[in-house]
Amino acid sequence: MKDVPNPQSLKLTPPRKWLWFNIAVCFLVSGLGLWALESSNYQNRKQNEYSHTYEDLTELRIQLENIITQNLNLSQGMATYIATNPDISQKEYSAFGAQLLKRKNNIINIGAAKDMVIGMIYPIAGNEKALGLDYRKQQSEAFDAIRAGNTVLSGPLNLVQGGVGLIARQPIYLNQTGETWGLLSTVLDYDAIIKESGLLTAKHLNITLKGRDAKGAQGDFIWGKPEVFEQNPIIQTVKLPFGSWVIAATPKSGWMTFRPSTLIWSVAYIVIFLWLSLIHLRYKTVRREQKSLVNSITSARRFSDLFESHDAVMLLIESQSGRIIDANQSAQNFYGYTQQQLTRMRISDINQASPEKVYEDRQKAAFGEQNAFVMTHRLKNGDIRKVEVHSSPVETGNNTLLFSIIHDITDRFESQKKLTLDAVVFANSQEGIIITDKHRNIISVNKAFEIITGYTAAESLGKNPSFLSAQKQGKEFFIELWNTVNETGQWKGEVWNRRKSGKVFPELLSITEVKDEAGQPEYYVGVFSDITKLKQSEEELENLALTDSLTGLPNRLSLKNTLDHAIAHAKRSHERVAVLFLDLDKFKVVNDSLGHAAGDELLKSVSGRLSERLREKDTLGRLGGDEFVIILENLNSEKDIITVAKDIIELINRPFPLEEGQEAYIGTSIGISQYPDNASKGEDLIAYADVAMYQAKQNGRNTYSFYNESLTADADKQMRTFSQIKRGIKAREFELYYQPQIDIHTGKIIGSEALLRWNHPERGLLTPAHFIRIAEERGVIRDLSRYVLVAACQQLKRWQDMGFKQTLSVNISPQDFNHRDFTREVRHIVQQSHIDPNLLELEITESALMRNADAILNQLQTLRNLGIQLAIDDFGTGYSSLSYLKHFPINKLKIDRSFIQDIEEDSSDRAIVSAIIDMAKNFNLTIVAEGVEKAPQELILQAEGCDLSQGYLHSKPVPAATFTAMLENA
Ligand code: C2E
Ligand code: CA
Ligand code: CA
Repeated sequence: MKDVPNPQSLKLTPPRKWLWFNIAVCFLVSGLGLWALESSNYQNRKQNEYSHTYEDLTELRIQLENIITQNLNLSQGMATYIATNPDISQKEYSAFGAQLLKRKNNIINIGAAKDMVIGMIYPIAGNEKALGLDYRKQQSEAFDAIRAGNTVLSGPLNLVQGGVGLIARQPIYLNQTGETWGLLSTVLDYDAIIKESGLLTAKHLNITLKGRDAKGAQGDFIWGKPEVFEQNPIIQTVKLPFGSWVIAATPKSGWMTFRPSTLIWSVAYIVIFLWLSLIHLRYKTVRREQKSLVNSITSARRFSDLFESHDAVMLLIESQSGRIIDANQSAQNFYGYTQQQLTRMRISDINQASPEKVYEDRQKAAFGEQNAFVMTHRLKNGDIRKVEVHSSPVETGNNTLLFSIIHDITDRFESQKKLTLDAVVFANSQEGIIITDKHRNIISVNKAFEIITGYTAAESLGKNPSFLSAQKQGKEFFIELWNTVNETGQWKGEVWNRRKSGKVFPELLSITEVKDEAGQPEYYVGVFSDITKLKQSEEELENLALTDSLTGLPNRLSLKNTLDHAIAHAKRSHERVAVLFLDLDKFKVVNDSLGHAAGDELLKSVSGRLSERLREKDTLGRLGGDEFVIILENLNSEKDIITVAKDIIELINRPFPLEEGQEAYIGTSIGISQYPDNASKGEDLIAYADVAMYQAKQNGRNTYSFYNESLTADADKQMRTFSQIKRGIKAREFELYYQPQIDIHTGKIIGSEALLRWNHPERGLLTPAHFIRIAEERGVIRDLSRYVLVAACQQLKRWQDMGFKQTLSVNISPQDFNHRDFTREVRHIVQQSHIDPNLLELEITESALMRNADAILNQLQTLRNLGIQLAIDDFGTGYSSLSYLKHFPINKLKIDRSFIQDIEEDSSDRAIVSAIIDMAKNFNLTIVAEGVEKAPQELILQAEGCDLSQGYLHSKPVPAATFTAMLENA
């Protein structure tokens, strides 16, 4: 929450200015647009109005022109008549006038003035006054016509007889002479002409006429409203044959002016208003959101201090996407990621559950349905932790965040699991378990206890376990027992108890003291098993035939008995007893090359020859294999013994005839021990003779050797083996065998474990049981381990080159870790051999790991860093420390064979295996079951979720070539 900004520094967009700018632009744009629209509309209409007015006016003008022209054409007729009949009488004139004016006209009268005095007129009636009118005296304009030689129109003017008229005066020239006859004066009815021309009825127009006396624009107003001329009228010229008038018109309503349309503008402004409201609304929302952001940031800043400095692990997660928005310092420490790394992750990168499940849980938290969860988180270093997560939703505007506090509950969880596991073990154990308090009163017993003793838990609680005693062992026995417990913390031995039924039974009991923190005894735990059956079989064993079935010779048990008797006898009679331990040389060659039958035949022949040579008092027996023992009694001196030994060597050296004419050449080495010189127990004598036999072999075969007292038998044997190991390494007698590991679900070979074998020149193929412990104790394990690692890596490289991607497990002795440069050595070997380190796996036993935990941890980490895989071997005997194991960087866990062996029948074994697998899965470990011999075992393991299977079911350990063939054929 370091990046929470200061709210004052936040820029609020959009600012108020932005709003006003928006509004202004909106007005401007819409105004201009509307204006353009309106003005083009106006121009159109105005154009229309103009052309209509023009057309109407034109029509009126033409009408007017026509009417006047028609009337004047009529009077022209009269003028033409007179020009041809200059002496026309009034009578004639009237007749022609009547004839002429029959047609439609607007002529009031036509007067004819011969020599400029009106002498005739038509019609006479009403016009009498005009007769005799002398133009020469009064109307000089009458001469204009004469002067112009054309018709002259005067008026309108008020007529003498009343009304308004237009007067047209036409000069008349005589046709024959061309002399001026006089004048024809036609009075036109002005009002009628105006009316007929339609000027009065032109409703839409204001019309005015100008040009009195046909003087055009210079003339006075004739008709209409003079102001029309000031109103921008349309003006046309009314053409008269003898001048013109001017006619002007405007629309009655006046020319249209530019007037915006209220409809358009009001619609436009409603739209603009709505738009602006929308902008405003949006603006307000943004402001509000920002304000709430500022508010939440302000509170976030307050919260961030708490968040940052709090010891608890805290995360802020986006509920929808699961993105980690923030992580406090404790979270960074806990997960091992930096703040930057964390904020680039989603919670599902950490949570081990499926992304769907994680999403579901997030939704529950976001809707407040659930706020506490138990989950499995993975840290950067690969550690898996159980965590309890408390998540509460935080609303931020349009987003829901989850504020999560994370508690690491791994330890609590583990101890709970372990408790459950302990309970399972306790309940299912085949062995009876008694737990007492420090006063040795029973506080708990298990089911097996009830079955074995017949007492229920209720009957036993609160009692001292001695209530079970069969009273077969004395008080001292128990005092001694408890003394041992008090001194050493435990005791183990056989105890006779009595069942509820009264039946006495033997049990093998071990008692362990559990101390409290102060080191004082707090509880005692007794674990016992009913060994009735074991005891019985022991006895049965003694009754078994005491002979070796192949040769009919006494066997080991029988030999032991005989020897004991011989010693007892010798003790009394102060004699000596000698034990000769024979081991045949090169017997293995015969057995291997000629077959078991031949081998058996040979053994029989050997026993026959030996029996023949020995005295009746002596005993010949066979221990097994090619080992024989001879007991010599009643001896006088060592010399006798040597004689026998030499004879025997000589006897065995002779060829042995076999079937089909073959012969076997073998030899023998003899070790000799004696009573009372070397030991007083039969068992010990045989053991020492064995040691001496090895000495003999070392001294060169076909010889005998007395047991050398100066060395203890054990040490001597070890010494020899130790020097032999070094020699064996040099002589390349060691060889790695490979046992496949199988994917339990697919059946495919995924790798193998390298197991060491010693092709011993005398003892044949030896398994590690014969030499590993000695090598460890004598300090040569390091040489052996180095040899194994180099050989394994070379083999791995060969497989790698052949294209087999196989893991190879190599066993590591706990002692290897004692050498400080062990990891350096491993790195060197890995690099030299050019293998993929991921394919190399080192196995270390659980017990070894526990013993040296602190010292080993760093080295294991170094190995892991090299890419090498690590496996825990023989896991299960110390299962209680599984929770401790997770501190180690391990990848694999191998469940010990002892758990697999009886998994079919033993429900407690199965429960333990199931629990181990469960927990191991929790730590993300691969699980291997060791020693799987039967298919049903594998089925159970499969069901329990085990990953890999290793055991005789699939294959015994085999030489490299055999394993390669297996890979090739897979
Ligand atoms: P381990 O590591 O537990 O090896 C497994 C042993 O179980 C092997 O015995 C193997 O042959 C045997 N085994 C495998 N499957 C079955 C099965 O189905 N039934 C039975 N009964 N046994 C099975 P091995 O080869 O005799 O080795 C014994 C032990 O010697 C090994 O136990 C390991 O602790 C040690 N060892 C072997 N090779 C080396 C080595 O190169 N270096 C060191 N330091 N120790 C080694
Ligand atoms: Ca192993
Ligand atoms: Ca093992």
